Amino acid sequence: METELQQYGHFIAGAMRDGDATTEIKNPATGETIAQVPKGTADDADAAVDAARDAFADPEWRRMDPTARGRVLLKLAQLIFQNDKDLAKAETTNQGKPFREALADVRYAAQTFEFYAGACDKINGETIPVPGNRLNYTLREPLGVTAHIAPWNFPFQLASRSVAPALAAGNTVVLKPASLTPLTAIRMAQLGHEAGLPEGVLNVVTGPGGELGNRLVGHSGVDGVYLTGSVETGKQVVQEIGASHIKPFTLELGGKNPNVVFPDANLEYAVKGCALGGYMNAGQMCWAGSRILLHESIHNDFLDAFQARVESLRMGSGLEKETYLGPLVSAGQRKSVEEYIKIGKKEGAVLVTGGNVPKDKDLKGGHFLKPAIFDQVTPDMRVAQEEIFGPVTSVMTFTDYDDAIRQANAVDFGLYAGVWTKDLATAHSAARDLEVGMVTINEFPITFPQTPFASAKQSGIGIEQSLLALDHYTRVKNVNVRIG
Ligand code: NAD
Repeated sequence: METELQQYGHFIAGAMRDGDATTEIKNPATGETIAQVPKGTADDADAAVDAARDAFADPEWRRMDPTARGRVLLKLAQLIFQNDKDLAKAETTNQGKPFREALADVRYAAQTFEFYAGACDKINGETIPVPGNRLNYTLREPLGVTAHIAPWNFPFQLASRSVAPALAAGNTVVLKPASLTPLTAIRMAQLGHEAGLPEGVLNVVTGPGGELGNRLVGHSGVDGVYLTGSVETGKQVVQEIGASHIKPFTLELGGKNPNVVFPDANLEYAVKGCALGGYMNAGQMCWAGSRILLHESIHNDFLDAFQARVESLRMGSGLEKETYLGPLVSAGQRKSVEEYIKIGKKEGAVLVTGGNVPKDKDLKGGHFLKPAIFDQVTPDMRVAQEEIFGPVTSVMTFTDYDDAIRQANAVDFGLYAGVWTKDLATAHSAARDLEVGMVTINEFPITFPQTPFASAKQSGIGIEQSLLALDHYTRVKNVNVRIG
């Protein structure tokens, strides 16, 4: 599959549709072209929205017995499980991540569909006690057509994270994957169709964010927008909604997440967790543990063990079994990370290891970069403040609890935080004091379809995952009935 050139179209109204122009999709581990997809235009966005509007106007999906709607989503989950290895292979070949990680992503996506399949017939309204002889209640209705704009770092998983609850609530969907990684989103729509989604309920258009994403966001036929992407894109989306057509939106944006290691922590676990948090998916993660805050008394011991572990991470094509670290997603992304390596050095941070392009012959064609650790980072440095989105961690030290929390909170982002301690009071105090949407104690990173993926500060607005997310995919209608 990885060597054969695949031809894809948009997936609109239940069928593949060619675009006027195409884009070549590359394997970031080798540079080889693996597929061609349409380079969508505003007209393609309009066609997808029209198809979704027609499907919403037809009561077949939104008025379907909700238990039956759940069965369709459950069937989709089963099809994803049945095709998990093929999907993971496509993801690895397109995005670069190790196959093991891609397989976990695909299975997580299937579990997300399972979770929301079970929620379809539990989206209840409520009755409200009001004065007089009246019945007063709420209905929770689908919004209509929802637009989903996905990033390239977890293409399949993050697309499913918002598509599944949208469908569960009875909406019809237009999904725009990132232009670099569109392949598995198209497969999701095909499998959805096979599972029994009526035509036009799940549409996928591929192409650049600027033209296509922008058109979807401002479209008068779109009733809700769900973006997972950078803060910059989030700001553009908010502006576009404000300027064109007001509608609800959810923004899941970036992070500069701290892993705070207290002196009583189990150092072996902390080292492993910090390596996973910093270098999984080559560090291209909104919830990467890109800042490591160490109590000054454990700095040297931790750093020695951490450096040894990071230097042992095996780099290679994601399709090779032993690979821990794949390439960066594109030449542009590697260049951007290399720029941060220069910035960090210039600011006075000490580059302990990595940050250079490996010389190995078999890695030559890909966008590989050796995993880097910066030590002696201070909170004012750009490598402590900005999302690098690559295999780079910034190590800092703190003197006591208050200093740890102050430094952990001293960024504009507020997505995720790790705390390493055996002390219950320290753990729960930190969980309370950290200005983030999610805190994890003694493991990193971890989340589940049934738990909220929440954010604070510049990391976003709204919630994905869990039953809470369903609020973003439904609107409440109040009904008053005079009885007597
Ligand atoms: P990006 O913002 O460049 O692109 C995200 C998506 O938005 C892509 O599909 C892109 O084509 C589209 N887009 C770009 N400009 C647009 C516009 N003006 N209007 C509408 N759509 C537009 O992000 P990326 O580089 O693909 O992904 C990396 C970013 O995503 C990082 O900042 C990362 O932290 C963030 N992210 C956040 C989460 C989360 O859950 N909080 C998860 C994963 C990634």
